[in-house]
Amino acid sequence: MQGKIGLEEHFAIAETLQDSAGFVPGDYWKELSARLLDIHERRIREMDDNGVEMMILSLNAPAVQAIPDVRKACEIAVRANDFLAEQVSRRPDRFQAFAALPMQDPEAASRELERCVATMGFKGALVNGFSQVGTPDNVVYYDAPQYADFWAVAERLGAPFYLHPRNPIPAWSQIYEGHPWLMGPTWAFGQETAVHALRLMASGLFDRHPSLQIVLGHMGEGLPYSIWRVDNRNAWVKLPKGYPASKPLGHYFQNNFHLTTSGNFRTQTLIDAMLEVGSDRIMFSTDWPFENVDHAAKWFDEATISEADRVKIGRDNAIRLFKLDL
Ligand code: MN
Repeated sequence: MQGKIGLEEHFAIAETLQDSAGFVPGDYWKELSARLLDIHERRIREMDDNGVEMMILSLNAPAVQAIPDVRKACEIAVRANDFLAEQVSRRPDRFQAFAALPMQDPEAASRELERCVATMGFKGALVNGFSQVGTPDNVVYYDAPQYADFWAVAERLGAPFYLHPRNPIPAWSQIYEGHPWLMGPTWAFGQETAVHALRLMASGLFDRHPSLQIVLGHMGEGLPYSIWRVDNRNAWVKLPKGYPASKPLGHYFQNNFHLTTSGNFRTQTLIDAMLEVGSDRIMFSTDWPFENVDHAAKWFDEATISEADRVKIGRDNAIRLFKLDL
């Protein structure tokens, strides 16, 4: 399919490049770092070769979220966003932008989101999971009360919020001890991000902001497969639900979440996601440069779904959600 749009496509600036170093063996680092630092050459060739018209670009991970020094986090976010705005202005027909946000300071994050979306035309934000605030061990998730105003700003701006994975901090990783292969995209990313998404749903955030839209990568981080059980465990036992949200969590999953195919090129999994949230809420993505554009595109172009769904998922849903000028 021609004209695809990718939404989980990363780059790095010098200050954040090393954050991606641990995710491939040493001999692959030269290749991965070159891919991360390139915007206009190799990346556009990959897009042209695989029918990808546009990428909405975002900073690598964990980057800003892993900078406990609040002032430094703000500074790097602004620097990355200014760099990205400049890159997009050179090829707005091929690239658009998601803001990096210093969630360590909710007010600064709101201001930066407003600056990026209202002033620079960014299409939303991509945030790499929880933030470390003040000290490396102080982990903050965004269902916390100090984010009340931030979410109001995101809703007012109509800015979708892409909740992207990161690894849990070492102190919270005992379950993976001795099994480092489980970290990162193998398992820990999905586990970490799914729990964060459930916390947002359960917090009542979407009762307060019913038009707020969250995007999850990797076909929903396992949630399409699990969300029914989240709401229906031990259904014969009458218990209070135990969280502030007014509706079953599946309701928010179907009304406030969108999923992308990033890094999860599997038709069986796509069909399960389509059965849970519908083909209007799923969008094509690669997760470049951690995954290959040709792997994503070849799978998607041949996946056994209807052509109508392929056009929605490959292109039209992204144009609608991000109000793309295409
Ligand atoms: Mn990614």
